[in-house]
Amino acid sequence: MRLFAKPVQPPPKKPTTKTARGIISPFVYNSVTRKVKMFVRRGHCFYMNKKAETKLSLDTEVQFLRGVGPRRAVVFGQLGVHTVGDLLEYYPRDYEFRPPLCLMNEMNVDHQVTIAGQVQTTRYIARSRPPRFTLTLEDATGECRLIWFHGGYLRDKFTPGDFIAAWGKVSRYKETLQIVNPRWMKLDTIDELFEQQDTGNAVYPACADLSSGEIARIIRSALDEMLQQVAEPFPDEFRRQRQLPLLRDALAWIHRPESAEHASQARRRLAYDELFLMELGIGLRRARIQKWQPAYTLPLDERIDGRIRRLFPFPLTPDQDKVVDEICKDMARAEPMNRLLQGDVGSGKTVVALYAALLAVGHHRQAAIMTPTEILAEQHFQSIEQYLKHSRVKRLLLKGGLTGQKRSEVTDQIAQGQIDIVVGTQALLQSDVTFKNLALVVVDEQHKFGVRQRKIIRSKDIAPHYLVMTATPIPRTLAMTVFGDLDVSTIEHPPPGRQPVDTRWIAPDKLPQAYEFIRSRVKQGDQAYFVYPRVQEEAAISENEPDDVLSPFGQIKAAVAEHQKLQQEVFPELNVGLIHGQLDRQTKQQTMEEFRAGRLHILVATVVIEVGVDVPDATIMVIEHADRFGLAQLHQLRGRIGRGSRQSYCLLFGRAATEQAQQRLEIMTQTTDGFRIAEEDLRLRGPGQFFGTAQHGLPELKIADLINDFDLLRMASRDAFNLADQDPELKNPDHQILRQTLQIKFGPNLTLIDAG
Ligand code: ADP
Ligand code: MG
Repeated sequence: MRLFAKPVQPPPKKPTTKTARGIISPFVYNSVTRKVKMFVRRGHCFYMNKKAETKLSLDTEVQFLRGVGPRRAVVFGQLGVHTVGDLLEYYPRDYEFRPPLCLMNEMNVDHQVTIAGQVQTTRYIARSRPPRFTLTLEDATGECRLIWFHGGYLRDKFTPGDFIAAWGKVSRYKETLQIVNPRWMKLDTIDELFEQQDTGNAVYPACADLSSGEIARIIRSALDEMLQQVAEPFPDEFRRQRQLPLLRDALAWIHRPESAEHASQARRRLAYDELFLMELGIGLRRARIQKWQPAYTLPLDERIDGRIRRLFPFPLTPDQDKVVDEICKDMARAEPMNRLLQGDVGSGKTVVALYAALLAVGHHRQAAIMTPTEILAEQHFQSIEQYLKHSRVKRLLLKGGLTGQKRSEVTDQIAQGQIDIVVGTQALLQSDVTFKNLALVVVDEQHKFGVRQRKIIRSKDIAPHYLVMTATPIPRTLAMTVFGDLDVSTIEHPPPGRQPVDTRWIAPDKLPQAYEFIRSRVKQGDQAYFVYPRVQEEAAISENEPDDVLSPFGQIKAAVAEHQKLQQEVFPELNVGLIHGQLDRQTKQQTMEEFRAGRLHILVATVVIEVGVDVPDATIMVIEHADRFGLAQLHQLRGRIGRGSRQSYCLLFGRAATEQAQQRLEIMTQTTDGFRIAEEDLRLRGPGQFFGTAQHGLPELKIADLINDFDLLRMASRDAFNLADQDPELKNPDHQILRQTLQIKFGPNLTLIDAG
């Protein structure tokens, strides 16, 4: 049913008797026709490119689109839309399906309807309570009153004679039908309404300066022409097997769906493409790495295995055996290993890394172990020392502070192969450090992921095997795919004898009870951490600043001030230390050392302690303002305790200001399973934040979802890896569209270019 027949010809007969207001006269009809025609003519000129003859292409700046211009282009820029191609990928976040179009003489009370017509009168009644704005709308069959309470802002939006559509629930006041607080849109042409009548109204993520409606209009008016620029990267057969619609159709449907089914097919196709491209980028990188220089082949034999295992005071756990096995298989090959070893804090990764290093040493080659901080380097070195007490393996801690003569002595030893295992920070990457025959690099990233360093220690003709350790568990289902250029080994179960940390979420006014509890535990030889989100109060220097900048619950306690208070007022009889990121390296190390040695009973800290420091007697951790820490961070912090055999306690103090914060704290009290926490974290934060995509050179996902689209991800990953194997440089003419798209998406991040 149509309100106005799409009029090409005016109706044959003039209704002579009813020319009074309330009826759209033939004159109006004509003017609609004219308007439609005029619009169609103008519509040919979608864009106002300076050179009118240049065709619109996907890299044209949005500014040259009809209805955009320089000022809006700036706003679009803030939304991440710079080019026409970006706009085409500015996907709706939802759809709104309008109720059916209805003639005014067919409206029924309580029905949801859409009506369209011409504005007759408008009126603003400021004195009524509440103030209201009313308008009479008329079509060829009747009229209807529209009322907006508090509608003052609408006063100058309507002029009698305007065409509008309005929708909402019909009600009756005395004899007149009305719609209260309807949604509405202005119609330039009646066609606009027909075009969209059965289609969802796309709702776009908007901002204050650009409403969803305005974005929709701009996209709608340029959509058809934009679509003509879209090339299809996949052959028909390939798409058919995967039940994917044409890319061009998918883009049309995502912005202008004719049904919910279309919208969902469109989403599936676009998500597939997004995941495919991401995986293709990863696959190509992997294909390149595999073509890398050869590595030393370091096969494991029983003699070496036996010698290594004898060094450990305990048998390896089944999980450790499994990952050792995976690593040894890699290292036996001439192709460099490129493996990620993931396992929760305390799961026993260090032992595995040492096993791999000793395998290299067993073949008279060198191994390097790199850590993000000095403290960690020191700690790794000390635990290695423990295991190697009775061994002739030569090991060295390369300190960052080392300079001059001493340093050159040490680097000489490394260069001549007199050192077997070198432990250090980034200092290992400096140019004066060269190895005689480096066969293995272990990078302990703790909670960080990064591909950046991975490039660096590749040297000369022989590439080292590469093992990255991370304590941030990556949700099982994702690890293989997201880290497609790394093989992944996982330690799922910790060594025996661990007791899970007892975690509680407590209201801040119960703090004094916690003090007493700690006092009694310290008497029995335990130690405690107090963790704060900030270093100092007013300066607001924060090492941990989540989304909400200021707590609604007043002053954020800071480490420096709390340290004073705890030492002087609460625990005058105990030794309370302080550690935070602004202290110099030496002070930090000293304090850590004193805490580890038990001379400090309590350590007040910021997140600096989150990275792997081991103090077995530390069994209590108080985290104040726990709501201000991220989930992964809380989990990492908690990993500092529960490392001995005694029961440990993690006491989270804080009030959750947001629902997310509440969920984070609740999850912490429910589980110590790092994988479950990682999954929840991914769910709460989304992949971009979770992975720190910038760090990876992974593109931000606009439409796909790594958890919910997992099946699609698996399919896309398989397809992309196949392609990367077949045509690692994308030279085949059939793959040029993909190659171009990939370059646009990843830009310089994807080092396709340096693939050479
Ligand atoms: P991660 O590096 O994963 O945080 P570590 O390698 O530091 O974990 O191991 C944590 C603790 O567990 C260490 O004290 C280590 O001695 C102990 N450990 C490691 N492997 C085993 C094992 N197989 N059996 C018993 N204890 C182990
Ligand atoms: Mg460790």
